[in-house]
Amino acid sequence: MSLRIRLLFCFCIMGLAPKGQGTQAGDISFTFNYDASFTTSAGSHLTAAQSDFAFVGTYISSLVKTDFTGNAVVEIDVSGSNDSSSGVLASAGGYTNGNDGFEKSFTQLLVQNNEKNTFSLPEAFSSINFDWNWGYGGSTTSTEIDFRYVLLHEMFHALGFESVIDASGASSYGNSYNDFDQYVKGWDGSKYVNLVDRDSSNIPTGVIANAANAVVDNAHPLLFDGPNVRAYLNAGAELYTPSIFEAGASISHYNYPGQLEYFQIGYGSKSFGFSGLDQAFLKDLGYTVVPEPGTCMLSVASLIILVGARRKS
Ligand SMILES: [Zn+2]
Repeated sequence: MSLRIRLLFCFCIMGLAPKGQGTQAGDISFTFNYDASFTTSAGSHLTAAQSDFAFVGTYISSLVKTDFTGNAVVEIDVSGSNDSSSGVLASAGGYTNGNDGFEKSFTQLLVQNNEKNTFSLPEAFSSINFDWNWGYGGSTTSTEIDFRYVLLHEMFHALGFESVIDASGASSYGNSYNDFDQYVKGWDGSKYVNLVDRDSSNIPTGVIANAANAVVDNAHPLLFDGPNVRAYLNAGAELYTPSIFEAGASISHYNYPGQLEYFQIGYGSKSFGFSGLDQAFLKDLGYTVVPEPGTCMLSVASLIILVGARRKS
């Protein structure tokens, strides 16, 4: 079995919600494996940074449940850097089997199917650039970047909010696509259609003729048209599809500035949490999501461009 590795570069206080009534959902938890580069790069911020990782893990655990009676432990390898020449705040990605199909990531398979990967790999990985002026512990000044908020953004990628469609308009891995990609629609010149064609068994068979244009059509941006997102918006969600393809940013973010899974984040404190739209994405990615009280509005200040790339194996 082949393996794909993906890496994305980028960046309301909740109560503990009860488990869904009548479901058999178990709990998820996160184990973050911090390597030496993380410890070294974090320096005096190590304790605060690790505390925020734990906070984000607990938050996700309060909302996202397993689809079976047991619990699941999601392992994430975490590294760090101190790179003053980089516009990248942080990155995250996941591992996926390289089969033909709209493949769920290791995180999705573990949480939804109780299926642990056989590669002795973590489900996902993330890296933090500690050269930025982070604000920890939910306390962020106007000259700092909200660390918890960026971690939640990255963990959303680790949960499966990511595409493997590249500038060609097709997968970088033949007919192996991400689960996310089955809901991507593109403008064919006159209407929106599935960007990726599939057969009666939902196995990808190629992409539309106009795919390379569709992924850079910011007049008719790609849409994520999963059933829960459509029910929430009464439309598909616009994806980030700038006119010049940005590997690691294009398609793997949505096109709503100031919201969690936009590709940029500004300085200053942000309202922490998954919005209703974010929760609809999680449901379309197959997750059992239990309600949380209230919703969050997110604000944005000056922007930092977060760029990216994908590492292949
Ligand atoms: Zn991102």
